Amino acid sequence: MTSVPESAAHSAGAADHDGSTTVLHGVGVGRAGVVGPVVQVAAAPVVPAEEPGTAPDQVDAVQARVTAAFDAVSAGLRAQADAATGAAVEVLGATAQMADDKALRKQTAQRIASGSGPVAALDESVGGFATMFEQAGGYLAERVTDLRSVRDRVAARILGVPEPGVPALARPSVVVGRDLAPADTATLDVSHVLAIVTELGGPTSHTAIIAGQLGIPCVVRVGGATALADGTVVAVDAAAGTVEVGPAPEVAQGFARRAEVASRLAEDHAPGATADGHGVLLLANIGTAEDAERAAAQAVEGSGLFRTEVLFLDRETAPTREEQAATYARALRAFGDRKVVIRTLDAGADKPLKFATQPDEENPALGVRGYRLVRTVPDVVTAQLEALGDARRETGLEPWVMAPMIATPGEAREFAASARAQGLTKVGVMVEIPAAALRADAILREVDFVSIGSNDLAQYTMATDRLRGELADLIDLWQPAVLDLVAATAAAGQRVGKDVGVCGESAADPLMAVVLTGLGVTSLSMAPVAVPAVRYTVKAHTLDQARAVARAALAADDAPASRAAALAALAPGVADALAL
Ligand code: PEP
Ligand code: MG
Repeated sequence: MTSVPESAAHSAGAADHDGSTTVLHGVGVGRAGVVGPVVQVAAAPVVPAEEPGTAPDQVDAVQARVTAAFDAVSAGLRAQADAATGAAVEVLGATAQMADDKALRKQTAQRIASGSGPVAALDESVGGFATMFEQAGGYLAERVTDLRSVRDRVAARILGVPEPGVPALARPSVVVGRDLAPADTATLDVSHVLAIVTELGGPTSHTAIIAGQLGIPCVVRVGGATALADGTVVAVDAAAGTVEVGPAPEVAQGFARRAEVASRLAEDHAPGATADGHGVLLLANIGTAEDAERAAAQAVEGSGLFRTEVLFLDRETAPTREEQAATYARALRAFGDRKVVIRTLDAGADKPLKFATQPDEENPALGVRGYRLVRTVPDVVTAQLEALGDARRETGLEPWVMAPMIATPGEAREFAASARAQGLTKVGVMVEIPAAALRADAILREVDFVSIGSNDLAQYTMATDRLRGELADLIDLWQPAVLDLVAATAAAGQRVGKDVGVCGESAADPLMAVVLTGLGVTSLSMAPVAVPAVRYTVKAHTLDQARAVARAALAADDAPASRAAALAALAPGVADALAL
């Protein structure tokens, strides 16, 4: 992925007009550029203020329209579920069931019969059920999201406007929306998505990470993007963080040249190493067993981050121990004798889960998230470790297991004991809270390895919400304070001879990768699409040269200066070759 901060530091959300074209600015994720037509993700419709009531002689006709709308939504969702894979099947199936719900349809019909307009009738019925479900709590409360999704879709049908969510894509398109919900990304037809552009979100938000995972160029925080008409041809440049309306033909040619360089770099399958043979493992970030199989087919040395929460997203209840064990075993088998680091559930904050998230947290990013779930849903944490132990026994392959959001050596000790009790022998934790980085020696005494989550480490070091794109300059991964904490952690690892990896977005930046290598980081884990450029820059430097690049970055006083200093210290020709 690109050096996010660079593009963010310009003017996320602004537009330039040079007379012939309009260029919208945001924060880019990835390095690719594409040209294609816009398809807008429709927003949820509101009840029209001027909707008339239903006159007695219109009741039958209006009710027939509403029934047809319910039927069409249900059929559409079922068709989508049939064509979907993974978590999307359950999400879509559950929502379709809600559209068939007899009580919901009956109450809506009764309201129409007593004179309400159709959308108002639907809205009131759904509102009534939602309140009832929320008061009942438990399973019913969890269905409220599905209920609202049905409301939005049926209302859109009644009003004759597009259904909210990503429409079925007939041709390769640039998907544009205010933001994409997890359910939207779960149902994306990847073969037809050229790029994703959103008005909200930040470079390390859910949408950006999923896009990176799928190798789809993405620009977030693009002000004015939702005003682009469907079919408008745009050039999306993830490296520059721009969306150009009506680009000249040369723009596509430039993108094609960039793609050629990328594919040339992709021909090198050598293990990650500096020019003088100091090894740095190049690993893939994955979120599903399918990701594992796709990534394992590429030139990577394993996986440094399996975000297991993807398996839990959009579920009413946690997946069973058996289902989890089967998924982990599949991921382990995909990589065979290569290293696979499986992270335990990291729910909460930007990754809410229906059955594990505290509904009343004022500051969810500072609340019960990551390993802290052991305080509220210990059974979920235990079942996952049991499933990992099962996968180990079943495959005979050793997973590396790590916990997210560890703040103290005591938490690391407790997690390590629980994991070892399941027969797991490679146990680590993530360093993504400044407290853990500052006390990395003590943390490392408790575990076999650590992995730096630079996205959260930047969020907590800079006290900046990673979802707020307008603060992207503060959460810049080149902030010297963030680099200091990475350096402290890497140094602790070297002192005790234990692995210190990086699995946040820093690892995917080919320039930052040289800095991390120079700091003594032993593995870099990233979206597979980012590996070739990182392999190239690491290989273009000796370890001593990488150390000099790291020293230059650390000596700067702010993020742009830090990046510029690293760039200036690169071996000759490297920056030009990659257009860094
Ligand atoms: C991180 O915080 O850098 C990380 C890798 O974890 P996530 O992005 O899933 O929070
Ligand atoms: Mg994190």
